[in-house]
Amino acid sequence: MLNVDTIKNGLVIDHIRSGCGIKIFNYLGLDKADYCVALIMNVPSKTMGKKDIIKIDNIINIDYSVLGFIDPNITVNVIMDEHIAKKITLSLPDRVENVIKCRNPRCITTTEHYVPHSFKLVNRKKAEYACEYCDELYRAGVGDVF
Ligand SMILES: [Zn+2]
Repeated sequence: MLNVDTIKNGLVIDHIRSGCGIKIFNYLGLDKADYCVALIMNVPSKTMGKKDIIKIDNIINIDYSVLGFIDPNITVNVIMDEHIAKKITLSLPDRVENVIKCRNPRCITTTEHYVPHSFKLVNRKKAEYACEYCDELYRAGVGDVF
């Protein structure tokens, strides 16, 4: 049983927008984890109102650019020997591949399945990405991945 307050070596994914924790939990494959993990939902937060937190009692490899795409406001604390060894802040990556699917039914990625789903950041302020093939716009930071 995981004591959610103490992790010896692992990761704490914090400041997740309330409701997005389960999406990140599933994206990271934590539902299949054989080590201790905890998804804590609706934690009171001064700055966010409510937030979700994921605690992982294991140092796992995470693609931080994808995590930044899902929600750039997330922070990750790396815990070593029960102390915070490193704080990782995320940002929107310039480009993502095979993270989201283009919604345009006429886009080449819909019919040609070997084509990667590539999106480039076109407006950082609005968190807007455009499909590299058809320019269909997509907003990041809403917790969507496939
Ligand atoms: Zn497209």
